[in-house]
Amino acid sequence: MPAALSLTRAQLGSIYDHALRHRPEEACGILAGDADGSVQRVFRMENAEHSSTFYMMDSQEQFQVFDQIEQDGLQLVAIFHSHPHSPAYPSARDCELAFYPDALYMIVSLMDGRPASRVFSIRDGAVEEAWLLVSGE
Ligand SMILES: [Zn+2]
Repeated sequence: MPAALSLTRAQLGSIYDHALRHRPEEACGILAGDADGSVQRVFRMENAEHSSTFYMMDSQEQFQVFDQIEQDGLQLVAIFHSHPHSPAYPSARDCELAFYPDALYMIVSLMDGRPASRVFSIRDGAVEEAWLLVSGE
């Protein structure tokens, strides 16, 4: 599992834009890329729950994205979602619903007005922080 998530500034901007646009609902999506954690594609997805306190990806959309990732020869690197009113730390429910032990979980907090993010691995309910690297462009 990659110990770091590597995003370009443009990718990070795209994630933040998605989070801000859907406020006060949580926004979510999938980051696909290489085994070293470098993201190649950002999939901005619908929160099927339209809730401000949790998210659930639409299963049909998630299936299509996983299919696309495979076609592109990429892998699932991370799942991101926003916390409109709480810190960038996994909730109890986030831990319960962390079904991908090999993926990283990026959480974008909007509670301070502008987006702030942290990245974690969540395995069997154990939360460990990982690096978020943002490069140039
Ligand atoms: Zn959450």
